[in-house]
Amino acid sequence: MGKKLVIANWKMNLDYYQARELSKMISKNNFKNDLVVAPSNLYLKAVLKICENNPQIMVSSQNVSEYDNGAYTGEVSAKMLKSLGVSYCIIGHSERRLYFGEESKVLTTKINQCLKNNIVPIFCVGEQENDRDKNEHFKVVKNQILTVLDKINVTSIKKVIVAYEPVWAIGTGKTATPYQAQEMHSYIRNLIIEKYGSEISETIKIVYGGSCNKNNAKDLFKQKDIDGGLVGGASLIFDDFIEIVRIGELF
Ligand code: PEP
Repeated sequence: MGKKLVIANWKMNLDYYQARELSKMISKNNFKNDLVVAPSNLYLKAVLKICENNPQIMVSSQNVSEYDNGAYTGEVSAKMLKSLGVSYCIIGHSERRLYFGEESKVLTTKINQCLKNNIVPIFCVGEQENDRDKNEHFKVVKNQILTVLDKINVTSIKKVIVAYEPVWAIGTGKTATPYQAQEMHSYIRNLIIEKYGSEISETIKIVYGGSCNKNNAKDLFKQKDIDGGLVGGASLIFDDFIEIVRIGELF
């Protein structure tokens, strides 16, 4: 079991002053493990500056353009993110899949953009509630993972973080049980073993997301194949977020 990684996804929340305040409060703490904070792109520079003296805090974007550079109004490239000092990027969050129609082809390109620019992609996968009702959750996740990983250079695969986020658990207060989460994480780990062998599979972090909070984090993080959490709502509340990070440090 490696160190647990906790990732805060602030989504499209907080104004500039609130984002600065929350970053300052987080950055004043000493941490044993790395943690990742993903603010809006607008605040990346400010958050990077505030956290620059805390070596455990990494800063992530919530999205990236699939293109290198050029006439793509409104887009932000991986190269631009890297030039600011951004070292992680969330790719394929279910909200991007659902509201912006992002599918495997574009997600693969985005992951490759990150890898090319030395940014760690946090690749999100997860089934809808009706997939689970039909007992098709493993099939759905397998398809999401393999269609993308198949097109990534094998030497880069171990840099990818996988976030298993069952869509029915995101922002709903309905968490996957530790059993359900572990079952899927171990399934994902085995898919990676089959394709790339156990050495790569052990290096890849698989984090859980979906209503992860200070009350359920311990039971989730205890599971063998859960390497940490991707936290949305609870990451906006300073005390709750720090408590989840501290729980991660227990392992
Ligand atoms: C997320 O957005 O990745 C997430 C897991 O959100 P929440 O923790 O609010 O369910």
